[in-house]
Amino acid sequence: MYSKSTLILAAVVISSILFSGCSSKNTKKGGHHKTMHKKAHWGYTGNTGPAHWGDLSKDYHACKAGKSQSPVDISKTSKGKVPALTMHYKPTGLNVKNNGHTLQVDYQPGSTLLVGKDKYKLLQFHFHTPSEHKRYGRHRPMEAHFVHANDKGQLAVVGVFMRLGKKPNPLFAKILKNAPAKTGHNSVKGVMVSGKGLLPRNTRNYYHYSGSLTTPPCSEGVRWFMMKNSVRVTAGQVAAFKKFFPMNSRPVQPLNNRKVLRNK
Ligand SMILES: [Zn+2]
Repeated sequence: MYSKSTLILAAVVISSILFSGCSSKNTKKGGHHKTMHKKAHWGYTGNTGPAHWGDLSKDYHACKAGKSQSPVDISKTSKGKVPALTMHYKPTGLNVKNNGHTLQVDYQPGSTLLVGKDKYKLLQFHFHTPSEHKRYGRHRPMEAHFVHANDKGQLAVVGVFMRLGKKPNPLFAKILKNAPAKTGHNSVKGVMVSGKGLLPRNTRNYYHYSGSLTTPPCSEGVRWFMMKNSVRVTAGQVAAFKKFFPMNSRPVQPLNNRKVLRNK
């Protein structure tokens, strides 16, 4: 069982992930979206950048006070008993959102991630450049995040490093082609996509640690699974993404007393 407050927190976390834009467009929507305009504007540079997130709003306190924050540098890892991951990602109608911080593909219900026996629903996936996590102190050009929630509202994120290759990634190409230039979303008629197109062929090996959202409100208790294998995109595709968002990556955070576990 879980408490009411857990559920409320979960609802806040999920809604902040799904509606994390700061644009005036969001403020025009009715219902609970109305609370959006009260959320402090944040970004990646200047005085609304990551170093200031914790001071922009009480709601963002975890961004500066949290001890289990994400992303992290994955260098020292320990072999551990970590649950098996099984992705059941089905095709979904292409719905690309520009939320003012990233390009995000919203997922229709029905796709899941199993973490051991725990079932999570795939909500959306989105991108960062450069990568948010580091490997041995180094960034990759980009990183994709697949965001999942279970019935209790707890989150699990699968992260995939995106490295440079010679062939364009077909799914990323469709997303870039249909992305709204300004804040908003684009439901593309007749185009089905699967998140599988941005998962590495081998999803068996990964790094696991307990972290947070990498954007305000930086809520903790997120189960992170960073794929050991990467996917490839072209330099042109990275450049195309940077036209939307030149830099949308939070710096790595201290591990403190956490361990990064590897399954192999
Ligand atoms: Zn992310």
